[in-house]
Amino acid sequence: MTELTHYINGAHVQGTSGRSQPVFNPAIGASERDVPLASTDEVNGAVAVAKAAWPAWSKTPVLRRARIMDKFKNILWGRADELAAILASEHGKTHDDAVGEVTRGLEVVEFATSAPSFMKGEFSENVGSVVDSHNIRQALGVVAGITPFNFPAMVPMWMFPVALVTGNTFILKPSERVPSASLKLAEWLTEAGLPEGVFNVVNGDKEAVDALLHSPDVKAVSFVGSTPIAKYIHQTGTANGKRVQALGGAKNHAIIMPDADLEMTANALMGAAYGSAGERCMAISVAVPVTDAVADALIDIMVPKINALKIGPTTEKGSEMGPLVTEQHLAKVRGYIDTGEAEGAKVVVDGRDFNQDMQGYENGYFLGGTLLDNVTPDMTIWKEEIFGPVLSVVRRNSYQEALDLVHSHEYANGTAIFTRDGDTARSFSQDVEVGMIGINVPIPVPMAYHSFGGWKSSIFGEHHMHGMEGVRFYTRIKTTTTRWPSGQRTDPEFTMPTLG
Ligand code: NAD
Repeated sequence: MTELTHYINGAHVQGTSGRSQPVFNPAIGASERDVPLASTDEVNGAVAVAKAAWPAWSKTPVLRRARIMDKFKNILWGRADELAAILASEHGKTHDDAVGEVTRGLEVVEFATSAPSFMKGEFSENVGSVVDSHNIRQALGVVAGITPFNFPAMVPMWMFPVALVTGNTFILKPSERVPSASLKLAEWLTEAGLPEGVFNVVNGDKEAVDALLHSPDVKAVSFVGSTPIAKYIHQTGTANGKRVQALGGAKNHAIIMPDADLEMTANALMGAAYGSAGERCMAISVAVPVTDAVADALIDIMVPKINALKIGPTTEKGSEMGPLVTEQHLAKVRGYIDTGEAEGAKVVVDGRDFNQDMQGYENGYFLGGTLLDNVTPDMTIWKEEIFGPVLSVVRRNSYQEALDLVHSHEYANGTAIFTRDGDTARSFSQDVEVGMIGINVPIPVPMAYHSFGGWKSSIFGEHHMHGMEGVRFYTRIKTTTTRWPSGQRTDPEFTMPTLG
């Protein structure tokens, strides 16, 4: 059993709280590592380290900070396979999917290397007589990131590259189910030349999160995870005077219009519903075919594809879908299929029947791809996020009915429409009240230089992540107005200064 650590002040540090929990390899259903769960005192110690590192780091020239990010980016490019293997061993996603995750995170690091451009201020001369004005962006101080299990490398990289390059110091509290990738990223940041104490990892659970939320020295909190916890983080963090961006859960619908290319749509839905075992906040979990004829034709195309899904461990070449993250999560997802069936949905393909006769992996948390038809909005399986390889089909008779369905859901992270009609596509992208939209694109995750975020109960707080929204979140604007005497004398002025 490997005892994992925290990473504080440029080095691995053993936990001292006396609390820890096992980290499982979901493919074999066994624990290989133990993660320490930090106490409030340990978190406060890490915050003090980050606070001490802040003055020098915030005054380090931005080009120098960007060069460290550039070095870190090169390390990551060279070791993407190594990182992918680590995170797949705790999450269970396939190796190629894990490499894709690392790449999407790395793109935010690439964006961060352009900080000298996006950190440039603005200057106005002669705003008054011999008076000039300029504004700059300054870092906030110590900021914290709290991340979910499903993207152990990418989601932390949505946060810390932008936070660090803009001059903040950082405490990362990764998901206790997948802690190892964060520790590796911390080592590589040190190797890239990041000064000690600028980036720290504290492993832990609610106690560590609460310590961060209550620390007066933590100025901002970025969170990604489920909606109930996102709400809690936003309420508690803002009540303690912090800036908070908290991204929550999702239920992403794909509308399939009668003019859609059904073969292309079916392939898109296969990847979007079953890739990463459906454990993506941008997974499509509801297909909304417009008309019964479209629904029947789509299901006919999809059923053989779902039955042919190659399910297996990440190490097996050719695996298209791995296991779920934990035994508890597997039980929860299976429970949703039971509930759906009991509520009257038709189980067209039943992942509970998956034959787990794989030598060495009999105890892994595998579930087959599942397709449920005749799902209706009063069912639990439509209302709640399942976060597994389960696609629900909700049939609708018109575009308007399909749009109304999307709008009636509390979550609004992503959505997609499949159509050949430009008018419908344009109306959809303009009218739909969802944060990220795909037109014939099933997983419309914005690039690093755009920003990621949903609407409604999929986000709490004003700022989306990375891109310029990330820069705005991690900085505040300071405006300086300057007058040089130039030999002129001024009389006292008692009215509000104006140009006159
Ligand atoms: P989670 O909410 O259980 O955990 C997220 C983080 O919160 C973890 O670091 C965890 O330690 C911490 N946490 C858990 N319970 C807590 C509590 N009671 N008090 C304080 N902190 C607590 O989420 P998860 O299961 O790890 O991840 C899956 C969820 O994340 C899904 O709902 C998914 O949609 C969501 N997600 C959203 C996005 C997005 O961009 N909107 C991206 C990825 C994942």
